[in-house]
This record gives sequence, C-alpha cells and structure tokens, in this order.
Amino acid sequence: MLKTNHLLLILLTTFSFNNNAKELAISFDDSPRFARGYFDGQTRANKLIETLKKHNVEQVAFFSVSKNLDSEGINRLKLYANAGHIIANHTNSHPNFNQLDLIDYQQDFIKADKHLRQFKTYKKLFRFPYLREGNTVEKRDGMRTTLEQLGYINAYITLNNYDWYIENLFQKAIKDNAKLNFDKLRKFYVDVLVQSIEYYDDMAEKHLGRSPKHMLLLHEMDITALFIGDLVDELRSRGWKIISPEQAYTDEIAHYKTDRILKHNPGRIGEIARDKGQTKGLWHESCDENYLDIRFAKEVL
Ligand SMILES: [Zn+2]
Repeated sequence: MLKTNHLLLILLTTFSFNNNAKELAISFDDSPRFARGYFDGQTRANKLIETLKKHNVEQVAFFSVSKNLDSEGINRLKLYANAGHIIANHTNSHPNFNQLDLIDYQQDFIKADKHLRQFKTYKKLFRFPYLREGNTVEKRDGMRTTLEQLGYINAYITLNNYDWYIENLFQKAIKDNAKLNFDKLRKFYVDVLVQSIEYYDDMAEKHLGRSPKHMLLLHEMDITALFIGDLVDELRSRGWKIISPEQAYTDEIAHYKTDRILKHNPGRIGEIARDKGQTKGLWHESCDENYLDIRFAKEVL
C-alpha cells in the first residue's frame, strides 16, 4: 500500500509538473551583431551553437539585420541556419519607426526579406526594431497590412530586458582591463534576466489569468554566448520549459491587436496590461541603464 501510494505521488507530481510548466521561446536580435570585442563573430557563433546544443535547446530564432551581412556575417548566419535555428526578419537597416515614413520603412523591411531568404531556415517572422510598431495610425495599420499580405507574423516579444546594456558594461570592463570575476558576472546576468522574466510572467498572470507561451528577447552578443546555458539551467530549475519560436506564436495573445498608439512599446504583455488599465511598471526596473550601472559596480566589479 505504501509503495502504491508512493508511486501515485510520483506520478501525480510528474504529471502536474509537466502540465503546469511555464513555457518560453528564445530569440536573439540584431544578428550578425557587431563583434571583435571579447569574441570574434565566428567564435561567438560557434560558442552559442555549442552551448544551446549542450543544454538541449533545439531551436531559437535569430532576428537578423541584412545591412550587417558582410562575408563574415553571412558565414555566421549560415552556421546558425545549419544548426537548425531560424533566421528571421529584423529589417535591413534597423530603423526607428518613430523617425521614418511608412513607405521607407516598408522598403527597408522588403529589402531584408530579399537578402535573408538565402538562408535555408528563413521564416516569415518580423520583429520591429526597438519594438516600435508605428507612432501614427497610418504607419501602424500600414505595417499590419503589409505583414498580413506577405504572410508574415508579427514576432512580438513578451519578456523584455536590457541585456544589450549588460553587454556594453561587460565589453567596457574588458577594454578597461578591469579584473572581471566571471562567476559574479554569470550570477549577475542570470539574476537580472530571471527577475525580469518572472516579473512579466506575474504581469501576465494578473491580466490574463494564466501564463502564456512567452517569447524572450535577447541579443546575439558575447555575453549571450557565454551565459545562455546558465540562464536556461536556472529557468528549468524554476519549472520553465523551453519551446520553439513557432510554438510560442501559437498562443492566443499572438492575435492580440491593441488600438493604442504606442511610441515606446514594452512588449505584448505590457501592451495588454496597459489596455487593462495598468499605467506604471510596464517596463521591469532592470530596463534602466542607471539601475544596471549601480548593480554591475556593486555585484560584478
Ligand atoms: Zn534590434
């Protein structure tokens, strides 16, 4: 009897654990992003691919900027595509939609589509640079229509952070020959990101009553190549499951279209929260350069 109960308990625990797992997909923006700081581009790419493989992350998406495609950049994206990762559209020149006309923006997007199609895992997913989806009704609706007509998905994010600023702090410390403790740096990176991830998940629970399939925004950078495995380990230990980018966009919130014109966009959960009346805390406190400066100085240097 005792044994049966014990087995039942294990089964129940396993079942409920899998059933309730929070889910997120991973995306890296701005690839092939400027390199030659800590790693060169090829080393960064190989390290990222190896680490993802070692940690059983089957597929991530690389939102790519086609203007960055010199021969080294092309090789880098080929490495990602050959490893089975998605190459997707992040425009040709990474424009700020708040400062560009609709027609110029559309042309920039189409140009990227043409250049990025050469990669065998190219998918029609579009990520707006700076998450800015148009600061007028004409621009916003213009791009919504263009994406729809060309069979694109608006590859929104739900989990926002300033990982790019952590990279800046890291590269500056390297350049200044600061004595960096990599264990402290790892802990800092993982801690800041996990905090922001759980913050947006709590926001989703509050406004949707459930944890949606999330999309994590990260960038293709050295710090990402160094610590993505540690981040994945920590997330899994907290009950998260890593899913593919295309799985993430099967969530109902993929169809959500706010009526609001947002000059700055916190991500899809932030949009929903704003529409439900939340006006404060749409960005996690770590989406702030000063906050990260202070913590980096205290916890890493
Ligand atoms: Zn970007």
